[in-house]
Amino acid sequence: MHPIRILILAILFYILYRVIFGGKKKVSGKTEQLPPNEDVLMEDPVCHTYVPMSSSLKTEKDGKIYYFCSQKCCDAFKEEQP
Ligand SMILES: [Zn+2]
Repeated sequence: MHPIRILILAILFYILYRVIFGGKKKVSGKTEQLPPNEDVLMEDPVCHTYVPMSSSLKTEKDGKIYYFCSQKCCDAFKEEQP
């Protein structure tokens, strides 16, 4: 192959790479958003650990929802405040 052809191919590859890479960068920028409500960290009122809303135990008391890391903390909270 002629050396100039290789050079042209290299430039084309570089441009293609830049276009793909630039496009990916824009997409990753778009995904930089706040996490959905379900993944918000909530404080466990018993052990004061932060647990993701989606994987926590929930208990409603006086119209307020409390989040716990485990059933043990949930039970302790219920015992504390009858
Ligand atoms: Zn806990």
